[in-house]
Amino acid sequence: MKYVQLGKTALTVSECGFGCIPIIRLSKEETGEVLRHAFERGITYFDTANAYRDSEEKIGMAFNGIRDKVVIATKSLKRNAEGITEQMENSLRMLRTDYIDLYQFHQIAQEKDWQEVTGASGALEAVMKAKSAGKVRHIGVTSHNLQMALKMVRSGLFDTIQFPFNLIEEGAKDELIGAAHEAGMGFICMKPFGGGVINNAAVAFKYLRDNAGVIPIPGFESSEQVDEIISFYAQPNEITDRDREIMGDYRNELGKRFCRRCEYCQPCPQGVMITPAMGYPIVAARMSPSVAVEFCKIPMESVLLCTDCGTCLARCPYELKIPDILKANYALYEKHLKGK
Ligand code: SF4
Ligand code: SF4
Repeated sequence: MKYVQLGKTALTVSECGFGCIPIIRLSKEETGEVLRHAFERGITYFDTANAYRDSEEKIGMAFNGIRDKVVIATKSLKRNAEGITEQMENSLRMLRTDYIDLYQFHQIAQEKDWQEVTGASGALEAVMKAKSAGKVRHIGVTSHNLQMALKMVRSGLFDTIQFPFNLIEEGAKDELIGAAHEAGMGFICMKPFGGGVINNAAVAFKYLRDNAGVIPIPGFESSEQVDEIISFYAQPNEITDRDREIMGDYRNELGKRFCRRCEYCQPCPQGVMITPAMGYPIVAARMSPSVAVEFCKIPMESVLLCTDCGTCLARCPYELKIPDILKANYALYEKHLKGK
């Protein structure tokens, strides 16, 4: 495992980090073991969010006593100063720390989010204040929307950008990664397995390692999974013809079924929360069905408002059959509800 500077920040991180959604499914003891194992094997960057249930609390417990040896990033979906301040204070308590290395605005996709965050009494103002007070060392953003991500990178306001990047979501490759590097920002790669749909870890990581300056944050739920990913970094990265073939198969198979969460299809005139409802199967696989039915209740119930008007179909650049997929996802949600 090599260590790299995260953009122009003062943070040095392992070339592969740890995305802390899957630890939601583990007990506190199991989580402690996996996190400490990852740290012992050389991973030093741990990325969580206020929204990831008890993830922050588990990280705080696991790294109590070695706080200065790890880089902790968290994030908030709150857009105003009051809401984000409350969540930031909660994160500090849960993480058992008096500073957060990287505090990120979570999933800024729509213009209205951006206006709210950067406007008067917006979240940015509060996080800047927290930075001056030493509670936050660096400020970053996360997004699934390429145009918004580019706009935020060019704003000069942030130290890092976190964006999906993997062999089936390559949108960042053309402009975003280069723009982030030019701006001196760290590029944190969320969803290295496409949110769980790429099940060939070796090929997924060959693709990622072929792209310089990208820090992937796979989620781990066992020490064996940590060891597997770390073993890839112990060897030179060689992409064979067979690997390229496998990558091509994934692209062909998933291209017309896979929601990139870019939000270009929104808003729905009926109020269907399309993007989170499209992602329901992934959330259920990552968080467990019993957690997902609670976590996704509001967007999944909004699916019932769909009138099949087709407005979203015309807006999706990936030509996904949105209403059909939403119905299938709702059926899965109902099945999970019954199994609860
Ligand atoms: S359905 Fe299409 S437009 Fe909507 S978020 Fe998914 S990929 Fe983007
Ligand atoms: S087809 Fe359904 S989800 Fe899509 S815009 Fe129309 S009502 Fe909304």
